[in-house]
Amino acid sequence: MSIFNDLGLNQAIVDALVDLGYQEPTHIQKIAIPQIISSKDDLKAFAQTGTGKTAAFSLPILEQVDLANKSTQAIILSPTRELAIQIAKNIDEFAKNIKGFNVLAVYGGAKIDEQISKLKRGVQIVVGTPGRTVDLIKRRRLDLKSIQWLVLDEADEMLNMGFKDELDQILEATPQSKQTLLFSATFPREVEAIARNYMKNPVEITAGKKNVGADKVSHECYMVSDRNRYPALKRIADINPNIYSIIFCRTRRETKEIADKLIADGYNADALHGDLSQAQRDMVMQKFRSKHLQILVATDVAARGLDVNDLTHVINYKLPDQAENYTHRSGRTGRAGKEGISIALITPKEKGKLRPIERKINKKFEFKQVPNGKEICQKQLYTLIDKVHDIEVNEKEIKDFLPDVYTKLEGLDREQLIQRFVSLEFNQFLAYYENAGDLNGSDSNDGKKFDDENFTRFYINIGKMDDLNPAKLIGLINDNIKKQNVEIGQIEILKSFSFFEIDKNSTDDILENLGNSNFNGRSVIVEVTKKSKRSSGGRRKKPFNKFKSNGESRGGDRRDRKGSSSRNDNRRGESKNSGRRRR
Ligand code: AMP
Repeated sequence: MSIFNDLGLNQAIVDALVDLGYQEPTHIQKIAIPQIISSKDDLKAFAQTGTGKTAAFSLPILEQVDLANKSTQAIILSPTRELAIQIAKNIDEFAKNIKGFNVLAVYGGAKIDEQISKLKRGVQIVVGTPGRTVDLIKRRRLDLKSIQWLVLDEADEMLNMGFKDELDQILEATPQSKQTLLFSATFPREVEAIARNYMKNPVEITAGKKNVGADKVSHECYMVSDRNRYPALKRIADINPNIYSIIFCRTRRETKEIADKLIADGYNADALHGDLSQAQRDMVMQKFRSKHLQILVATDVAARGLDVNDLTHVINYKLPDQAENYTHRSGRTGRAGKEGISIALITPKEKGKLRPIERKINKKFEFKQVPNGKEICQKQLYTLIDKVHDIEVNEKEIKDFLPDVYTKLEGLDREQLIQRFVSLEFNQFLAYYENAGDLNGSDSNDGKKFDDENFTRFYINIGKMDDLNPAKLIGLINDNIKKQNVEIGQIEILKSFSFFEIDKNSTDDILENLGNSNFNGRSVIVEVTKKSKRSSGGRRKKPFNKFKSNGESRGGDRRDRKGSSSRNDNRRGESKNSGRRRR
């Protein structure tokens, strides 16, 4: 006997829930399930993603569906195709022990004929996006005249997405006698209007407090300059080697740009936004769900309905305009009782955006310092050591190779061996962070802080393996920056990345223009970096003038030893949770 039996659900459903690992109902399930089973009253529920709302509305409907009747008895409307598919999948799982039951998701971007032929076979619960549902009603392929239940899931989001007309048309096509169940994370005026116009004295229930962020989510804030947003993002990812995260951007363009940069930098990342074809979106989501991707960069709309339970972090690359949207975003972590961290990257100017959010989530942001290079290297090193310690050794498979391996490593003592194994994985990290500066604070610190002479030192993500040499680097700079006759200081070309110095007056020009360029088909990333001890201490070589190309290279530098390329690593990193690498 399970607690779910006490809510009025039959054994076939309870058995399926047990198989799914649902041990006890969530708060909203405890209230909504008996309410919907025992009463025909309309219901207005304040509920966010992650509260178990899908089961809260679908289980009581499933309990009451007439299996002898093949006609559509319930329509569930959801804002996105992904959420519709997810809801239908959940219902299918809940109903796995019920014979004669069918559920179908109908949504745009898929062949309507196939959906029509499935509808013809008889479907008791239809889950639809508003556009496709209207289309099917108009074609007289979906008959809602005798439905008993109408669910509006994420009603606020449907209205945000401009589905008001479609909702009105669908509601008009349903009978007065139905029970309407409205689920929404927020209740702005438009949602209240729908409730007022189409519901009769609804019972109101809440999945926890209204508009309150999920309880196990902590909220952290990093204050950086706009130009340090991306480097700070990378450091946050680097200090969390097992990160599994959605990074929210505000526009499709920004989403693409950040994902491209992360991919170019060797992170296990991809983008999800409205410009992708449906097949591409499906593929990205599948890879993310199965954890073949660690980082998904997404717009708010594209991430809707993505049902992932164990996200470690939600990162607001830029805060949304509406505080409500922050709660949607942060609610994607800390789900199913797990802990999660929601991070906001803000500039000093954006500080004012925190207060309205804090009021909504009823919690304070904790201000954190962007980790420095040493902290990151230490974290990465210890994680690597833990991995080495815990790795399962398949003695049977490697035993034939071991004698040769032992011979090759003869002469190295334990300490030397450990040093070499660690360096093999770790040199690139050390090199990247060796001169990493402090990213905390406002723009006034950037560059200047590290600029002890007249030059700003830059990191650039291309190196010898991209066929870069000093002449080509100078050519690339010349081709892309606006200013003429810019002085170029020291250049260090390393294996997969390089450093160069430029007259500090051209810092912004470099960041804006060179930072948006391409070299041999690769997106160029430049960042201000701290001066190397060698370059700031020693005598400066005569600077290069723009259009002159007699640059120096420090190839063979100790940073350039071994260490594999980030891009090759990224390809290898296709396997589950494996090698997200950076330079
Ligand atoms: P939802 O709010 O409907 O998107 O659900 C969030 C996640 O919690 C989904 O992955 C559900 O499968 C899971 N879930 C819902 N109810 C329960 C429960 N009673 N016990 C454990 N997991 C649940």
